[in-house]
Amino acid sequence: MSTAAEYKTDLKPVWCPGCGDFGVLAAFAQAFARLEIPREDIVMVTGIGCSSRIAGYLKVYGFNAIHGRTLPIATGVKLANPNLTVIAAGGDGDAYSIGMGHIPHAARRNIAITYLVMDNEIYGLTKGQQSPTSPVGIYSSSTPFGTYDQPINPLQMMLAFNATFVAQTFAGDTKHLVDVLIRAIQHRGFAFINCISPCPTYRGGMQIFKEIKARVRNLDEEPGRDLANREIAFGLAASKDFTPIGVLYKKEEKDYGTVLESLKPRGTSPDSQDLDKILKTFIA
Ligand code: SF4
Repeated sequence: MSTAAEYKTDLKPVWCPGCGDFGVLAAFAQAFARLEIPREDIVMVTGIGCSSRIAGYLKVYGFNAIHGRTLPIATGVKLANPNLTVIAAGGDGDAYSIGMGHIPHAARRNIAITYLVMDNEIYGLTKGQQSPTSPVGIYSSSTPFGTYDQPINPLQMMLAFNATFVAQTFAGDTKHLVDVLIRAIQHRGFAFINCISPCPTYRGGMQIFKEIKARVRNLDEEPGRDLANREIAFGLAASKDFTPIGVLYKKEEKDYGTVLESLKPRGTSPDSQDLDKILKTFIA
């Protein structure tokens, strides 16, 4: 039986005390151990930011990519070796600002990777600037008169992009986080998790954990909902009365690797499948 400790490196995280990312690190190690995935079969691709350091703290293959480019690299890794468990991870700035152009394409391809965004509603590494999920009215180092841009809603966004697995969880509830991670990794397709992972240093202090906890509604404790109903999921994602956590939406569809394997060449003659001959048609 595997233990969570086997999946952690000896490196001491450089995160601030109380950072939500500690909970995410613990949850990844526990989820890998519960699923008994061999360490050499896991690849974690991260971007740039405090949370993206997580790849260095897990004893799996890691790729600390350039800012916002987790998904294209993770896609390449998965296509090169479909047997690997591929995880993409990063923060809300890395995902929803710099890397935003890649998200709809990963979702519409249904590439079988798990994408976890540690959403703290701020840029932490660069000392507290407004991010795409910062609520209106908060003060940050880049908005001394308060933020006035409307924040994006990652859950509604992913539902609109037709992602086949959309979930939210909270770094202050490790058990829930582990359960959601396991379900995401087991999903045969693109699994998206927005993890509320507070930055007490630049966004709300330690009391933000209590504030989030008071607003959370755990959908996983409410059986009977049709998980494949996108309209219901949209309604839950849009709620202003509570913060939903749990799996909002899940449907089974062919993943990208399966689709690619089933493709057939346009012609049936041997020439139509001869790569050298095809390439020569492009040479003047
Ligand atoms: Fe965590 Fe914020 Fe510190 Fe970065 S700045 S390590 S996000 S608490």
